[in-house]
Amino acid sequence: MEKNDHHHKAESALKVNEGIEQPASINPMLENEMIRFRKNRPTVKDFLSGIRAGNRNLLGQAITQIESARTEDQVMATELINACLPFSGKSIRIGITGVPGVGKSTFIETFGLYLISLGKKVAVLAIDPSSTRTKGSILGDKTRMEELSVHTEAFIRPSASSGTLGGVTRSTREALILCEAAGFDVILIETVGVGQSETAVSRLVDFFMLLMLAGGGDELQGIKRGIIEMADLIVINKADGDNMLKANLAKREYENALHLFPPLASGWIPKTVTASALKNIGIENTWNIVDEFVNQTSTNGYFQKNRHEQSKHILRETISHALNNHFFNNEKMTKRLFFLEQQVIADRMNPYQAAHQLLEEYFHLR
Ligand code: GDP
Repeated sequence: MEKNDHHHKAESALKVNEGIEQPASINPMLENEMIRFRKNRPTVKDFLSGIRAGNRNLLGQAITQIESARTEDQVMATELINACLPFSGKSIRIGITGVPGVGKSTFIETFGLYLISLGKKVAVLAIDPSSTRTKGSILGDKTRMEELSVHTEAFIRPSASSGTLGGVTRSTREALILCEAAGFDVILIETVGVGQSETAVSRLVDFFMLLMLAGGGDELQGIKRGIIEMADLIVINKADGDNMLKANLAKREYENALHLFPPLASGWIPKTVTASALKNIGIENTWNIVDEFVNQTSTNGYFQKNRHEQSKHILRETISHALNNHFFNNEKMTKRLFFLEQQVIADRMNPYQAAHQLLEEYFHLR
């Protein structure tokens, strides 16, 4: 049978000449490609030296690794973050929020270019967990920040295109570390001011800026009181042309309103300014206020204290994230969870009993 087969092959047009070694793999081309890919893929050392040298291409690739869910990439990402951490922490981290249309990207472009004119390097990151639904509502659109995005002293990174708020926040925090290791002096973290992401952003940044419009009213602008309370600075944008008067009026209103809020832990009294991102008005003033904040809070110790608080939060969050993963990735537990869910639905157990039982089983798992 074998002989026949061999004979048949030898006669066919597909016959292989003697003396040519037969490859072991079914698809040698693919295997070679994979080897070449793995060989060429930057190592942690390559990434680190590239990032430290300010190579934006490698920085971008490294952030992609961070965002990847593949275990192999995750292991590398963790190593890279650890390697970058000693070089991080030296930037000023600014959160920028406001409803769509308020002028965030225009503002970031003008503000970013101004900072570059001062000799600073500027990175822009975004937190937008909704971007899967809206196909990249923030930064996704290529026409945004045209001038800034091509500048050699700038780096713009859109939000990870998928994931939960927690996941996107984690990868943004890690991207921030890499950007700092790459020598960026100011990191702007943009988010849409309508949801939960502001609290997440406030835990990543030193200074929180809220962009508003004159004459909109908080409710009309969909801004929650909690977000206003978080702001170190309110920028009334589009203070140009016919809008000037209204903007100045709004500035006074917000100044009065801010007085009624409880004082911030930083000891900083939140400020309100008018600006026009489009006409480049009030941009220098905005930066001077950030600078004043950094000076004041560095002197009174809040700046470091806030970063320490943020580190404590990262520690706890990392633990709870890992525990959570460990539990929900455990096949035995998920099977039991599914079973107990049915018990709860059938009213044979209440959810607290079920949770308690499941945790008992989990803690005694060996
Ligand atoms: P985002 O959705 O918050 O990022 O807002 P954009 O930056 O995309 O701006 C929305 C619109 O407002 C655009 O048409 C901008 O040109 C315009 N805009 C932004 N800033 C200003 C400003 O300071 N003055 C005026 N008049 N228009 C502005």
